[in-house]
Amino acid sequence: MVTANSILTLFDAFEYTTSLQQDFNKKMDIEKKTRQFGKTYHFDDQHEAGKPAQYWFQNPPEGFTLFIVFYTMACRWSKCLGCNLPSKMSKDHIPFDRIMAQVDYLFHSILTEEQKRDLKKIILSNNGSILDEATFSTTALIYFIANMNLYCPNVSLLCMETRPEYIDWHELEFLSTALKEGHCDTELEIAIGFEAYDDAIRNDHFQKGMPLEIFESMVMKLVTYGFKLKTYFMMKPVPGISEEDGIKDIIDAIDYLNGISEKHSIDINMHLNPTYAAVGTELEKLFLKGEYSPPLLDSVRKAVLHAKDSGISIYVGLDDEGLAAPGGGFIRKGDKKLVKTFEEFNATQDFSLLF
Ligand code: SF4
Repeated sequence: MVTANSILTLFDAFEYTTSLQQDFNKKMDIEKKTRQFGKTYHFDDQHEAGKPAQYWFQNPPEGFTLFIVFYTMACRWSKCLGCNLPSKMSKDHIPFDRIMAQVDYLFHSILTEEQKRDLKKIILSNNGSILDEATFSTTALIYFIANMNLYCPNVSLLCMETRPEYIDWHELEFLSTALKEGHCDTELEIAIGFEAYDDAIRNDHFQKGMPLEIFESMVMKLVTYGFKLKTYFMMKPVPGISEEDGIKDIIDAIDYLNGISEKHSIDINMHLNPTYAAVGTELEKLFLKGEYSPPLLDSVRKAVLHAKDSGISIYVGLDDEGLAAPGGGFIRKGDKKLVKTFEEFNATQDFSLLF
């Protein structure tokens, strides 16, 4: 006899099968794009799903900072030319309870009591998009914020990395409310990969898939809530760009962001990464053939100086996170002094150090 209970059981089984099928389709899509765009790396499927992928500490002007990378399904875009960040992630879906276990591990096994008390800023990443619910569950995000509010009383800035198309109004609304409920008001900074200012470099060559209209419509959402914006740029992200062209692209980006910041009264930080030849990407192949070389750190210095009288702040990325091919990093013999200078600049924003 068909009862209401048996119909419900059948319905549950159907929903479960559908969700498994959807996860499988996403996995196939990521693998397809990875190969289609010339990536040869493998995903890290051996990682323990209850532990974050990576973490480290930084000292930007905002104070003691934790950079935490949660282990989830890899970035669903997975096309960008020089990017191998998905190689630290899983190609399979990581369910919400495993990501919550990672949150527990962070707050109870990684951070000391002193660190929890001293933290001023947390950067939340999954080497993709934290606001893509398909890879980072909303339940786990709420759980992270609840734990941060409970255990880190002095975090005044939470930064989330995401592609702009995943930013929804309803998410901004709940984030805006939850971040005011901790021991101190926590501001939100959304961090997006912009990579290059030039449209052709960014979208045709680097495959970023981000027209300026999408970026600007995202800015309007952030402005509504008074959130901050961080933009990741790469110097010389594709082959065939001279040092001078690389510097010019960053200078154009600084002028553009400064205009947006003034027009909409939004705080903008440019996080400028000198490009490295990442293992398992087209850029590595070109580097090995002698058709690509990472930028000189002195070119980075020249580009950053352009921001001296602008309203945006700049942070120079100095770490390839162990993802560069041997010899394909941007720090060369003799760069030690300049690296120290950038470290000091990152902490002080003192442009006189760069002359
Ligand atoms: S740069 Fe970002 S969006 Fe592009 S493939 Fe890498 S993680 Fe994904």
